[in-house]
Amino acid sequence: MKKTIDKVVTAGLVLILCISVLSIYGCDSGKNTGPKTMPTPKEGVGTLPTVGPTITPSDTNNDNENPDDTLGDDQGADPEEDKPQNKVVVLDPGHGGKFTGARYFDFKEEILTLSVANYVRDYLLTNYEGIEVYLTREENIALDDDIKLELEKRAIVAEEHNADFFVSLHFNASENHQLNGTTVYASFRENVSEKSQGMAYSILDQLVALGLKNNGVKTRVSKDYVDAEGNKLDYYAVIRHAQLRDIPGVIVEHCFMDNETDKEFFDTEEKLRMLAEADAKGIANYMELKKK
Ligand SMILES: [Zn+2]
Repeated sequence: MKKTIDKVVTAGLVLILCISVLSIYGCDSGKNTGPKTMPTPKEGVGTLPTVGPTITPSDTNNDNENPDDTLGDDQGADPEEDKPQNKVVVLDPGHGGKFTGARYFDFKEEILTLSVANYVRDYLLTNYEGIEVYLTREENIALDDDIKLELEKRAIVAEEHNADFFVSLHFNASENHQLNGTTVYASFRENVSEKSQGMAYSILDQLVALGLKNNGVKTRVSKDYVDAEGNKLDYYAVIRHAQLRDIPGVIVEHCFMDNETDKEFFDTEEKLRMLAEADAKGIANYMELKKK
């Protein structure tokens, strides 16, 4: 298998690591001339226009009120509304379409991540109640032709579904192919850090229980991106875009795709399903989902 790796190197292909790809996406690539200000999505929404007639005190005491009105709004209330609201998790199978992921041992990262995402969804929906699960992509496609927008759209999907958590699924690689183990990245930003890091540790624990080396939970600060107040943002684009929408996000780097030791953890569908089961249990534990 080392031959495969050597071939890649001698072919002169630039080794684009999973993580570096993400960082390039995040534009921490030295091309930047100065700090960038990210718009806060919730800002500038403005005040909603007033709809309908203005209610004045005399209106509320109107003696000529239609008696039918006493049947009122309550009668139409949906008893379903009393049920506890489902929790929502959006799974993000990393890469896809023209934005390919890492490639080692004849595996394609964007295919592995899609498999894992489907298994995570299946496991959560089969074993727990009160949970809704959505994927940012269901096929091997990119969400946009522009890589920056492509990554932001993954967080936008989470926002559209009112996600409680955004979980981006990846596989790692290193320059010397010697690194192995599992790492989960989380946000350091105050509005989501507790939940983001709590979820990250919960997933990490389950992956480590499979026998993967524990590389810990990590946060990374962008050198370039700042918010409207000049405070630094998260380095990784999908975590940053989720955080800007008040959604705790994590990136799960399950194991190293280019490492012989870690290969034992992902080289069959059954093993991918086991990785996914670990992710799902980590998610369910942290969200305190009730077993069916
Ligand atoms: Zn990746």
